[in-house]
Amino acid sequence: MAGYFEEMGWRELDEGEQPDHLLHMARFLMDFGMYEDNFTGEWPRLPPPAAKEAVKNLNEIVIDNDTTNCPICLKAFNSGDKATKMPCNHVFHPACILTWLDKTNSCPFCRYELPTDNEGYEAFKKEKKRAVQRKEDIDTLHNSMFS
Ligand SMILES: [Zn+2]
Ligand SMILES: [Zn+2]
Repeated sequence: MAGYFEEMGWRELDEGEQPDHLLHMARFLMDFGMYEDNFTGEWPRLPPPAAKEAVKNLNEIVIDNDTTNCPICLKAFNSGDKATKMPCNHVFHPACILTWLDKTNSCPFCRYELPTDNEGYEAFKKEKKRAVQRKEDIDTLHNSMFS
């Protein structure tokens, strides 16, 4: 058997070792949240950066009172400061939130998510929604059977 593998330029797998391409495939599926059995409902990494378009469309406001702090740098705003407002109504220094959204797409305060340019992550979010929907369907069915 070893002769055959050597001839093909392959190496026999050590015990317990998986062929690389299978490993790659499994990781790919897990990354995309489509590996049903292992679907935990959580993205395995920090979500990807916010879509450039979504960041560009954030509202800029002028602070008219100085009672709030920027949740990222924790410095108080001064009256008249320019600030960026997320759709969840949380307000940040433009420089703070731009740096943040360049790394991940969600509000650091409440985790409100902006859209991303990452196809894999968007597919994951859809799958997550479907998983929630499935659970709701099962609950509805359960309730209609047992109530
Ligand atoms: Zn700040
Ligand atoms: Zn928020």
